[in-house]
Amino acid sequence: MRVLIAEDSGPSRLVLEKTLLRWGYDVVSCRDGEQAWEELGKRDAPQLAILDWMMPGYSGPEICKMVRQRAREPYTYILLLTSRSEREDLIEGLESGADDYITKPFDQNELNVRLRTGLRILDLQAELVQAREALREQAMRDALTGLWNRRSILEYLEKEQARARRERAPVALILLDLDHFKLVNDQHGHLVGDEVLREAARRLSGSVRPYDGVGRYGGEEFLVVLPGCDAGCLGGRAEGVRQAFSDTPFNVGGKSLHVTASLGGTLYFPDDDISTSELIRTADDALYGAKSAGRNRCMLRQAAAVTLPLPDPVESAAR
Ligand code: GH3
Ligand code: MG
Ligand code: MG
Ligand code: MG
Repeated sequence: MRVLIAEDSGPSRLVLEKTLLRWGYDVVSCRDGEQAWEELGKRDAPQLAILDWMMPGYSGPEICKMVRQRAREPYTYILLLTSRSEREDLIEGLESGADDYITKPFDQNELNVRLRTGLRILDLQAELVQAREALREQAMRDALTGLWNRRSILEYLEKEQARARRERAPVALILLDLDHFKLVNDQHGHLVGDEVLREAARRLSGSVRPYDGVGRYGGEEFLVVLPGCDAGCLGGRAEGVRQAFSDTPFNVGGKSLHVTASLGGTLYFPDDDISTSELIRTADDALYGAKSAGRNRCMLRQAAAVTLPLPDPVESAAR
């Protein structure tokens, strides 16, 4: 563990350095407040800091305040080093955001214990952050398929629409619905149905680029967001996905099932004044068209409000 020491008095700094090195810490040593603030601003800054109260540049409490205001992760555990033991000063020091303090001249055992307390708190903090990140990730994922869930993929679409406006590039979206999926459940059972959904998710993820977004939009419906995909690319991409389903049987539950999907696609262009929900509705209309026309096919539509360079409707017929 690396510890930052900021102490303007040379002898005192030397004692601290030697002591910490002897205890197995790596030491980043600073002789004034400015240098300490600079070190603490670095990407891989020490998470434990011992700051002298009175220093040129910034005082210990001033650095505490600045570190807390910045509120960066991971947390920095700060011990204030003070020769002033008046109660009011200590309160001021702790209010500045310090976690603990130690009075000069310091007692070695006391410093040792206080540093270990700091380490324990940093460990707990790291565990909390990890748990929070895991929960956040879980909340964004669909439990069955591991794809983004409905809320996340819609958020992704919204973000990509905003980016499209900034960067003046199109975004395509495809809504995909498995054909006659109810029959799979009815004939093979719900567990096989679940397996088919998982395999569908794998094929879908496998047939897009890493920066495309794929989410489970509903039961057996999936939404694919394709940033930068224009009219020339959308038809081909949709057809590629369709074939990824229809060309190879699904091997699930010891059975080989012929599973197909219908797809509805549309495009968003930077100048279009179209909401996310309108885009989805348009893709859904196109999907409905593909279903009505016999399933296992792709249809593309443009939102009613705009003129896109899409022939309307464009169909790629099933073979
Ligand atoms: P269509 O070609 O018109 O889309 O027909 P379909 O049978 O696919 O459509 P329908 O909407 O009638 O049925 C969808 C089925 O998907 C019904 C529902 O039980 C099933 N389903 C939805 N979510 C899940 C799931 O998580 N697991 C399983 N096994 N089935 C699901
Ligand atoms: Mg000093
Ligand atoms: Mg269906
Ligand atoms: Mg459906």
